[in-house]
Formats: sequence, structure tokens, C-alpha cells
Amino acid sequence: MEKRYYQPEIETMPVADLQALQSEKLVKQVRHVYNNVPYYRALMEKKGVTPDDIRSIADLHKLPFITKADLRETYPDGLLAVPKEECVRIHSTSGTTGKRVIAYYTQHDIDLWDDCCARAIVATGGSKKDVLQVAYGYGLFTGGMGLHGGGHKVGCMTLPMSSGNTDRQIQFMTDLNATILCCTPSYAAYIGESLREQGIKPEENTLRAGIFGAEPWTEEMRHDIEKSLGIKAYDIYGLTELSGPGVAFECEAQTGMHINEDHFIAEIIDPDTGEVLPLGSVGELVFTSLDKEAFPLLRYRTRDICRLTREECPCGRTHIKMCKPMGRSDDMLIIRGVNVFPSQIETVLINEGYSPNYQILVDRQNHNDTIDINVELLPDQFDDTVKGIVQREEKLEAALRAMLGIGPRVHLVAPKSIQRSEGKAVRVIDKRTLH
Ligand code: ADP
Ligand code: ZN
Repeated sequence: MEKRYYQPEIETMPVADLQALQSEKLVKQVRHVYNNVPYYRALMEKKGVTPDDIRSIADLHKLPFITKADLRETYPDGLLAVPKEECVRIHSTSGTTGKRVIAYYTQHDIDLWDDCCARAIVATGGSKKDVLQVAYGYGLFTGGMGLHGGGHKVGCMTLPMSSGNTDRQIQFMTDLNATILCCTPSYAAYIGESLREQGIKPEENTLRAGIFGAEPWTEEMRHDIEKSLGIKAYDIYGLTELSGPGVAFECEAQTGMHINEDHFIAEIIDPDTGEVLPLGSVGELVFTSLDKEAFPLLRYRTRDICRLTREECPCGRTHIKMCKPMGRSDDMLIIRGVNVFPSQIETVLINEGYSPNYQILVDRQNHNDTIDINVELLPDQFDDTVKGIVQREEKLEAALRAMLGIGPRVHLVAPKSIQRSEGKAVRVIDKRTLH
């Protein structure tokens, strides 16, 4: 396998050295936070820990967790750990699951974040010869500026497209010979669909790779996007609270995303008890940021459900890998007592030959939960007779029942009738919470 790294000495550092580096940084970071953030000091005092108790990463579990609720409570700057004049930028979460949260950055914080994104770009084979089309949203959302900064570090010709205006995306992609596309997977699927409609074949564009993330997507969706754009699609993970995209990224092995462990320590906990689970368990992902100056979070509960592995990777990187997040604990639907993740539904739909354009509607009728799934037909499936459509719906219902353990109602709808997303897709409408 061809070796490609942006910072080889860090990305391939022996695990023991990496952990020693983490320990050294953790001790410093805990002091920084304790001395500069009264809210944190109070949390630590409540748990009876002082910086003296934290001597290495083995002591990490002694620290209190911090949650999105704490971030909201301290909005807008209660967790700021440096004087405001040291900060050069803010970003904010997309607000997918509630009120937005604001994160502050010093120039040093931006530099490290850009490095993380640069590692992700180089892992796809990116170099200064590439034309990087950044079709994540620019602005408060971290997607655009993050990959943009990474593109500059690598020396790519960076196209700051932002999201939307799909015809212009395709025009620039074609006229400027873009080689790497960065956007949400749902927008990548939409661009693929638009290319097909314009009669542009996958092999006719110059793209060779895509860096897609910021929302959950399945392996099935990956194959769909790879086919429609004629590229290799790489996953990237991140969250505003820790910097943005680039907390973890996929290498060419594509068996999970390497977490940039020189900057972040990852743990998996039982979301109900807070207990740290052994390596390989499924649970909630918790991160400690080791280098952030302005907005350092210790043991931040992401609510993303995930698994970590430290198996040797053929790419030569030593950093721990996370699987594709299986969804957020707050994405999980509980329907008639059964846990359902939208990703399970997506897997069935694509395996049964449908597009990734769907919407899940959950409601409660006569004290009973109902789940309806609107699924778009592909243009060549649209000619079916009514009988044909009913048969298709029944077949899909049976496949979904087998996967989920509960029976949803399926409604096949006309092509293009479900709204496309240029950013994060809205997959679920849960009317139960609206009553
Ligand atoms: P918000 O929480 O408002 O959406 P962000 O824009 O910071 O704020 O999004 C971060 C969240 O996006 C993560 O916690 C995770 O749930 C999701 N996410 C980011 N990247 C991925 C990815 N590659 N796969 C699945 N989910 C992702
Ligand atoms: Zn690897």
C-alpha cells in the first residue's frame, strides 16, 4: 500500500509514545482549565478532584464529564479559557438537536484544526496537484472553513464553493477539473443525481475522491455515491465543540476513522451509568481535547454511539480507529419499545434498490406509535402499474420488518418529491414530540 501522510512522525508514532505524549498534554490541559474556567473548577471540586490527582491518562476517569447541557448553560462564553482578545474566530454547531453552541478559537487552535483536515486530505492521496472543491457550508458551520484550511495547508487549489447552487457546483467542477469533492454525503448524492440528469457520466468528470461527513451515512450510501460520481468516498468525523471536521478521518483501508490522538483522547462509556467500557464495546463516544487553548473540553459526551478499535492498520497509522457512528443517542427512535436507528432503514432501502431519498415519520395514534416511511422511486421504477407499486411496497415492508423487528408502513412516492439537502439531511420527523 502506498504510504501517504501529512505529518508522518505523529501519524505513525508508536502507541506507547503517543500515550506518553497524551499524558503529558493532559496534565497541562487540566491545569489550564482548572486555573482559567471557574465553571470547570466548580465541576471538579464537586467531584473532589484537583489537578494534582491527574498524573497521566490512567487518571482520566477521575475527571467529571461535561455535556451539551453544560455548554448551553455557559452560553456564550462561560467556558472560555483565554482572554477574549486572544481569540480570532468563533464557530457554532448546526443546532441539529437543539440550541446552538458556540466554540472559540485562538490562531493556534485554528492551525491545529487545519492540520487535522490536511491529514484527512493527504490520506485520500491529496497533494498540491489537487483541485479541492469545498461544498460544505461556509460560515458558522465548521464544515466549509475546516476543509478549506486543510486544503491550504496541503497546497491544493481550493475552491470555496460553499453548499448549494448545484448547477454552479457542476459547472466549476467541470471547468476547473476538480479532483476532490468535500461536502455532506447527502449533498454528494444530490450532486451525483444532478450530474446524471445533465447526462454527464461518472467517468466523464475529473473527480477521484470525496471527503464526506458531518452526518451519519451507511456503507450502502457510500457505494451509491461512489458509483454515481465515479470516485472513492472517504468518511470524516468531527464536531464543533472539539474544533470541527477532522477529529477523525478515514485512510485508504476504509475500516474505520483514525482519531487524531495527539490532539484528542477518546473513551467509550455506558451512556446510562457513565462507566468506561473496555476497548471494542459499543457505547457513547467521549472526547478530551488536549491542545485547544480557547475552548478546551475535558471528557465531553458527544452522544454519538460508536466503537473503538486499535487493530493494526495496513496504512501504517497507529492512531486508534472509530467505526462509523451508528447514530446519536438522541437520534435513536424508540418505537413501541423497540430501538430503531435511521441508518438501519437506510441500509434496507439501498439494498432493495432504492435511492437514499427517504423520510421517516413517527407519530402516535390511539396510544400506539406509528412509523411511516416515504421512499422515492427511481425514474425507471416509476413506470410500474399500481399493482406493481403495491407489490414493491409490501416487499419493502417485509424487508424492513425483518431488520427492525417492528412493521413500518411504506409509501413509494414520485421521483424528486422529497426535498434534497445541501447540508445535513432531515431524515426523521417525530410528531410525537410536537403534541
Ligand atoms: P450539531 O450537533 O448541531 O449537528 P455539528 O455541526 O458540530 O453540530 O455536528 C457534529 C455532529 O455531527 C457529531 O456529533 C455527529 O453526530 C455528526 N457527525 C459528524 N461527522 C459524522 C460522520 N462522519 N458520521 C456520522 N455522524 C457525523
Ligand atoms: Zn489506516
